[in-house]
Amino acid sequence: MNLGKGIVLLIFFCYPVTKAPPQLSRIQVTVISLHGVSMKEKIIVKEGLESYYPGEVIFKELPLTNGTVQSMLNEEVIYAKPLLDTLKKHSLPSTWSKTILLTDKKLTVSKLPFEYSMKYLVRGFAESVPGNLAIISTYKLKHEQSENAPYHKLLIKTARHEMGHLIGLHHCNETGCLMNTGGFNNNVQFLDLDYKIGAKCQNLLDSIY
Ligand SMILES: [Zn+2]
Ligand SMILES: [Zn+2]
Repeated sequence: MNLGKGIVLLIFFCYPVTKAPPQLSRIQVTVISLHGVSMKEKIIVKEGLESYYPGEVIFKELPLTNGTVQSMLNEEVIYAKPLLDTLKKHSLPSTWSKTILLTDKKLTVSKLPFEYSMKYLVRGFAESVPGNLAIISTYKLKHEQSENAPYHKLLIKTARHEMGHLIGLHHCNETGCLMNTGGFNNNVQFLDLDYKIGAKCQNLLDSIY
């Protein structure tokens, strides 16, 4: 046995894989564009997820023939929860394990009787924690982008954040964690562009998977 070769192999196998979360089995993710999202943006989401979570992202079209769904999608502002609930009921094949919808329309989580200021719009929404369906709006991201927070990075971070919900993570208050949003009014945590799941959330994932 060539000792040199053995040592090289040993080093290779002991080298830690930096992808997180490590124990999670492979996830199949379907990305669907509902409105105004380009192939380039879809690829940013795909690469942002695949470089972080174990699994693969595929693109699909969704035939949106249901009248209720259509009328919800035609609104100027999309109400995330009613849309996702209705989609699950009528349009979404149950075999699609994790599905992320993309739109460039305004997205909100609560029906508000007054103007839709940026404050009430959300970047994304997941149906439940854990869950199978989430929606991301590029609208707020495009308005938030800056030199320090370029659009493509905000999009990647949002996709990883929503996927975090789908695999079982709630929001957390750990500084620098991907699941820390800084709340509705404070975007500092979100815009710091730290893309990693923090130690607390990672421990939770390790206990689940
Ligand atoms: Zn969230
Ligand atoms: Zn966390």
